[in-house]
Amino acid sequence: MRFEKKVWLSSPTMHGDEIKFVQEAYETNWMSTVGANINETERLVAEKVGCKYAVALSAGTAALHLCAKLAGEALYGMPKVGEGSLKGRKVFCSDMTFDATVNPIAYENGEAVFIDTERDTWNMDPVALEKAFEIYPEVRLVVLVHLYGTPAKVDEIREICRRHNALMIEDAAESFGASYKGKQTGTFGNFNAISFNGNKIITGSSGGMFLTDSKEDADKVRKWSTQSREAASWYQHEEVGFNYRMSNVIAGVVRGQMPYLEEHIAQKKAIYMRYKEGFKGLPVAMNPYDEKNSEPNFWLSCMIIDKDAMCKQVRGETDVAYVSEPGKTCPTEILEKIAEMNAEGRPVWKPMHMQPIYRSHAFITAQGNGRARTNAYIEGSVEDVGADIFARGLCLPSDNKMTPEQQDAIIRTIRECFS
Ligand SMILES: *Cc1c(COP(=O)(O)O)cnc(C)c1O
Repeated sequence: MRFEKKVWLSSPTMHGDEIKFVQEAYETNWMSTVGANINETERLVAEKVGCKYAVALSAGTAALHLCAKLAGEALYGMPKVGEGSLKGRKVFCSDMTFDATVNPIAYENGEAVFIDTERDTWNMDPVALEKAFEIYPEVRLVVLVHLYGTPAKVDEIREICRRHNALMIEDAAESFGASYKGKQTGTFGNFNAISFNGNKIITGSSGGMFLTDSKEDADKVRKWSTQSREAASWYQHEEVGFNYRMSNVIAGVVRGQMPYLEEHIAQKKAIYMRYKEGFKGLPVAMNPYDEKNSEPNFWLSCMIIDKDAMCKQVRGETDVAYVSEPGKTCPTEILEKIAEMNAEGRPVWKPMHMQPIYRSHAFITAQGNGRARTNAYIEGSVEDVGADIFARGLCLPSDNKMTPEQQDAIIRTIRECFS
């Protein structure tokens, strides 16, 4: 069967209120980076997350960049013009993530060191992080992501940061609305970011926010994001600035989406549970989470195929081949079959240590220096957890607007791949 209308991985879901706030911005002529939508959206997000200040920015990436700049200046002082605040400094980063998590470290001239993934939540492995501090005790900054909306092992990671006197940037871009031990993600780092990109749990079509309890940091981010203007009647500058502020039009969309955050999460959770139920008896598992301590936002549903149910699959840098086998399958075959139905899936995010751009950067696994043993790895071996999840995992169509009937058809197609 083939769906007439494409079923997306995760597309924007609008409700009607968004256009009213956009219209209001238009009619009152607040068509800039100032206005009621920005103020109200910042207030609503801060209230939801439980932080004192939310600063609306043009993207989650912009928020993460200013997090990195704040961290660098807090740790190492103000840089010279033209030098990043993290110049020459190593920073420990989640490895299995979208590259927007780690690129801001490069913007500030720092050097990301990638920390391998654990199997309980598919996030940064505290054991590998501890190993990394043994190898590089001078490191003072950690960037932690909550992949696919599933909270990481926050307590363990924070305790390690505390012991090693390190600050933490929390990338909650994918996890807005998810909580850990009753507290919202985006409140655990010294510097925190969320995203309103078009594919996220709620969206402004683009946009992001910096979240903090520090008035000083919030003020700095407001200033930096509006070209670092000093209080003078002319344009006066003491620092390098950025054009990173959110538009009042975009903020209108986010404002209109805010009342639907919990509804979106409930829909995403129902999708996750339906897949889980539908895959019963298959040699697969869903992306896992800590059921006792965390409540994900279930942004994307993912699955991982058992090792002995994997057919042969070989990936180059941009291409892939597999050999179909009875009773076995692989992410590539499943993605092909669901694409034939006009539904969108995607491989699990390719780990940063496997990306050509970051090939020369260190990669630390639970056993220590992963790069030193890279040649010994067989893709899918137990040591390089990120490479293994990348080889066997995939993101499933997780769109809010997918009907249960459509999802059941996708489940049937996936079941057939194992026959
Ligand atoms: C989407 C995303 C970002 C970047 O957010 P933008 O708003 O697209 O700039 C950062 N980190 C992760 C993990 C993301 O998924």
